[in-house]
Amino acid sequence: MKRMDRKRKAREIDKRLVKAFGMRLPQERRDVIHELVHAVLSQNTSRRNYNLAYARLIEEFPTVEQLAAAPVGRIERAIKPGGLSRQKSAAIKEILSRIADERGDLSLEFVRDLKVTEAREWLTSLPGVGPKTASVVLMFADGRKVLPVDTHVLRTSKRIGLIDSRATAEKAQEILEEIVPPAIRPRMHLNLVELGREVCHARNPAHEICPVNMLCDYFALGKNL
Ligand code: SF4
Repeated sequence: MKRMDRKRKAREIDKRLVKAFGMRLPQERRDVIHELVHAVLSQNTSRRNYNLAYARLIEEFPTVEQLAAAPVGRIERAIKPGGLSRQKSAAIKEILSRIADERGDLSLEFVRDLKVTEAREWLTSLPGVGPKTASVVLMFADGRKVLPVDTHVLRTSKRIGLIDSRATAEKAQEILEEIVPPAIRPRMHLNLVELGREVCHARNPAHEICPVNMLCDYFALGKNL
């Protein structure tokens, strides 16, 4: 499909997803470093679990300085409900230590003054921080008009036909940010995640109740992935 057609399709998908889910960025913003910790906790687990792990972590370590100074075992215990607590606690310690070394303090507020490309470059230079995590942090903490690509966004946008079926997550982000206007990128991310979580499951997608089935290439081709 030509790029212009994909742009029109993206707008139509957005309209239907807004009607079906209406997901929007929360008004309340965390500081950038806490958003990064939250994003690390959100990897490979459910929303309920990572929010619980984050709430416990903040209760145990109200300031980022306390968190950075804490023994890794205490962090691991605090975030246990989020899963992969050993790996995530080690990652948090390593990230905070790198930020302190590079910046001389524990703040990432300076990324708000950087262009998106520079901010992404800086954040992805941190250990274990990939393009998706960097974009999630910029979107939630600073309201940047980006479209992070997680597993749900990648799967749904391939099935719908917004991107090629062989696109990597990085390529998918590039294409989606080209075809989705800046103003609607954050809500498109949130609504595609919701579509993937609630309807377009990896196995047995619920085509019959899907709000975008009439625009979906897989549905049109009669595939049942
Ligand atoms: S029609 Fe089916 S494959 Fe297409 S987005 Fe909806 S659930 Fe996914």
